[in-house]
Parts: sequence; C-alpha cells; structure tokens
Amino acid sequence: MDEYDIIVAGSGVSGSLAAAMASKLGSKVLLLDRNKEDEPGKKTLWGWVCGDAVAKSHIEFVKSNLGNIFRSESLGMPVDGVVALSPDLNFRIPFEGEGYSLERPEFGKDLHDAAIRNGAEFIPNFNVEAPIIEDGKVVGVEGKDKDGNIKKFRGKVIVDALGISSLLRRKLPENIYIDREIDYEDIELTGRYIYNLEEIDNDLRYYDPKYALIHLNQELAPGGYGWVFPKKGNRVNIGLGFQQKSLEIRNSKMNMKDNLKSLMDYYVKWNPALKKYSLDNNHGNGQGFWSVSVRRQMESMVFPGYIGVGDAMASPNPLSAGGIGPALIGGVIAGKVASEAVQRKDSSLESLWQFNIEYNKQYGSKMAGLEIFRIFLQSLTNDEINYGMKNFITYEEAVEISYGRVPELSLTSKITKLVKGVGSMRSFKNLVWSVDRMKELNGIYNNYPKTPADFPKFKAKVQSIINEAKARMPPNPVA
Ligand SMILES: Cc1cc2nc3c(=O)[nH]c(=O)nc-3n(C[C@H](O)[C@H](O)[C@H](O)COP(=O)(O)OP(=O)(O)OC[C@H]3O[C@@H](n4cnc5c(N)ncnc54)[C@H](O)[C@@H]3O)c2cc1C
Repeated sequence: MDEYDIIVAGSGVSGSLAAAMASKLGSKVLLLDRNKEDEPGKKTLWGWVCGDAVAKSHIEFVKSNLGNIFRSESLGMPVDGVVALSPDLNFRIPFEGEGYSLERPEFGKDLHDAAIRNGAEFIPNFNVEAPIIEDGKVVGVEGKDKDGNIKKFRGKVIVDALGISSLLRRKLPENIYIDREIDYEDIELTGRYIYNLEEIDNDLRYYDPKYALIHLNQELAPGGYGWVFPKKGNRVNIGLGFQQKSLEIRNSKMNMKDNLKSLMDYYVKWNPALKKYSLDNNHGNGQGFWSVSVRRQMESMVFPGYIGVGDAMASPNPLSAGGIGPALIGGVIAGKVASEAVQRKDSSLESLWQFNIEYNKQYGSKMAGLEIFRIFLQSLTNDEINYGMKNFITYEEAVEISYGRVPELSLTSKITKLVKGVGSMRSFKNLVWSVDRMKELNGIYNNYPKTPADFPKFKAKVQSIINEAKARMPPNPVA
C-alpha cells in the first residue's frame, strides 16, 4: 500500500483547501476524487449544484492563509449582501454583508489548482468506498480506480471532505463523536436553475442586481426558502430548498402533490421579475438538484486518525444553508491541524481535537443557536412570519439573530410586542424561548470541551436542548 502523511478524500471546496494548506506546510498529501481531472469541484452528475453565494469575509480568510488564489472569473460578481424577505414581501432583513456570486466551475478549479501548485498528488476518477480501520483508528482509505480496480492507501491523517453523503463518515465504527447519519428532518432538498435573463422587471422584491434575495414562504418552499441570486452577465441563479416533513404537511393540508421539481418550476413562474429567460447550460450546469444539511456541525468533527470537514460534517449554516464559507474555513484549519499532527507524529483523537477547538472558535460556535432559530421559523405559518417580522423583533434584533448573535429582547419591547390572537401569542412565547436557548447554546459552545474527556457531557447537553426545541416547535408550515 502506498503511504502518505495525509490523504484528503474529495477535492471539492473543503478538500481542495485542506490539501492546499497541508501541502503548503510541508506534508506529503494525496488528494482523491471521483471527478474527471478537468471537472474539479463538480458535486454530482448534475454539476456544481449551488446557489453560488459566499460572504466576502470567508474569501478573505482563505487569502490570509493561502494568498490570493482566486481569478476574477471565478469570483464572478460582487454583491452587497443577502436580503431575506417576509412572505408578504413587506419586510427585508439583510444578512451576511458583502459577498460574491461565484462562477462555481471556475471557483472549483482555483481551489483545486492551489492544492496541486502546493504539491499535492491527485488521483482523479477514483471512487472512495470505505475507511481502513485498525485498532479503532482510521489508517487509510480504499476505493476503486478508473478501471474498477480496488486500491488502498495508507495515511497518518485521513481528511474526509466527501460532501453530505460521505461514505467515510457513514462507515466509521459506531462512536460518540461523529453521527454517521444525518436526520432527514435536518436536510433540505434543494435545486436550482441558472438562467440568461433576456428581459427583466425592475421590481426589487423579486430580483435585485445588487443583492442575493431570499424569499421566506411556507407555501412556496415549506420549511426552507426560495432564492434569486444575480449573476454576472445578466444571469440569475434561482432555486429553492424545503424540508421534506414540512412539504408533506403542506401537501396534505393544501391537498397538493408537489415535489422538488414542481415547486421549483412554480417558483420561477411565481416570480414576475423573470419575464423572458433561457437556460444557461454552460458546463452542463444549468439545472441541478442535491441536498444541504441545516443542523449544527457534528458536535465533534474528529475521530482517531480522522478529520471530517465541510458538508461531510454537516457544516452549512442552519439558517441560511450557506456551506461554502464553513467549507473554506474548515478546509484551511483541517489542513493545518492535520499537518501539525503529522509533525508531532501523533494522530490520536487528543491530538486532532485541536480541529474542533479552532473550528468552533473561528466559525462553528454559533451554529447550534442558529439551528434553534431555524426550528422556530419552520414552526410558523406565513401569517405568523409576516406578523412576527412586523411586530416581534426590531430590524436590529433580526440582523443580530441572522449573524447568530443573541439580542436582548428587552422587557419593554416584550410588553409593547403584545400580541393579537392565540397563534401569535404561541409564536411570540416560542421566540422568547428560542432566543434564551440560543444564548444558552452560544455559552455552551464558547466553553467547547478542551479535551475529549469532557465531550460526552457537552454533547448530551447540546442534544437535549435541540431535542426539546424540536418537541416544542414541530413543523407547521400552513394552518
Ligand atoms: C442547491 C444548493 C444551493 C446551495 N447554495 C449555496 C450558496 O448559495 N452558498 C453557500 O455558501 N452554500 C450553498 N450550498 C452549499 C454548498 O454548495 C456546500 O456547502 C459546499 O459545496 C460544500 O463543500 P464540500 O467541499 O464540503 O463538499 P462538496 O462541494 O460536495 O465536494 C465533495 C467532493 O467530494 C467528491 N466525492 C464525493 N463522494 C466521493 C467518493 N465516494 N469518491 C470520490 N470523491 C467523492 C465530489 O466529487 C466533490 O468533488 C448549496 C447547496 C445546494 C445543494
């Protein structure tokens, strides 16, 4: 068996950066992907399926660690931010700040090229099928090469960057650290089209050339949202994501039979801004369907000999479903921590634990709180969201929440927010309860266990709060 310092499985966003960083730090890195050599970062047969939006701060984080590895054609078009609109389109809440509407195939190439330039060895057309485990530790991976031959590689640290359906994560031994499966209630089924816009209406509630718009609407996208993100060259990325359970409830209450494709097509028709358009099928990337998880990242993202990163560890933001930023940040930190472990000659759980600590500090610590807010939002009807956005929270409080920070809902504002009707009273109480739980979870994550020994208590506490939220606020998309 060939032997490497670090094996990175998956050359998408997170894997390419893990390989780039570890190679830069002098490790001998093998990068494996099932994609063809000229299609780096392609997520599925459907292409580079994504909304393509990323915050500028996340790109800056990469630049500060790896230099400017981006060409302007991969960063696409700058946008001033993301704006969420209420179902009645009367309220707009900005979040995430400035960013880019990326050209994903080009972006994937830039990330992958950085790994190769820094010295990583790459094998394309390689299907990773399972971890190799010896004495309870991951020591390598096995899979099939382009001719279908089984091959095995050994590494001191294995980085799992295989995306949401990772076979490495799912084939780990039963363990307390990493959940091998993601609960289907925590997954959004998503899809999007890329269109050339030949004629557009100037109604900024439906399409805004400067902002990535999110439409909260429990009938159009139950338990999720629709999006209209502008792209360079008069193009648009339009799509939606929903929670399967919310869709089932909505379909049964409204006596409908919608699925992902019919919801997407309806959403496009619903949008009056899109008057005349055609599919932009460059790279065969014009339409695609895939899933995103919207839970907190795995409570631990390491196991002996193994670091998981990006979608493989459920790292997308539970509120926005944005996963590029956490994959970029996680990739850089994973490459660094893996490389340092190789230098120390120690890839035990204790040694790799540093990844959990650094990732939570840099990005992850607010995600469990945001998951609570996502569960809260999924429990509201359109009328309740409209009413709540108008009456329950101020603009400033909403912005705070979207960043995962916890506003003080002051007593006076609580009293002035008093409340029409039983449904509104229930949702107002749930808002106050959710904000308290966000605060509690942010506190718990700010004291993330320094060693694995303290982990079981931490995980039990986090899970009990999340389970309580799910029991208290079940999905209720339509009345
Ligand atoms: C429709 C949609 C819209 C989205 N919109 C946004 C958005 O606007 N902004 C945002 O920030 N995030 C968005 N996301 C999420 C974002 O796309 C992901 O979080 C991001 O791609 C995660 O990167 P990753 O490296 O973890 O995984 P991936 O990008 O999925 O990369 C995984 C890599 O592993 C390879 N691989 C997988 N299995 C194997 C195997 N068995 N053997 C070998 N190789 C394998 C794949 O070929 C791929 O190269 C969206 C997701 C979807 C589905």
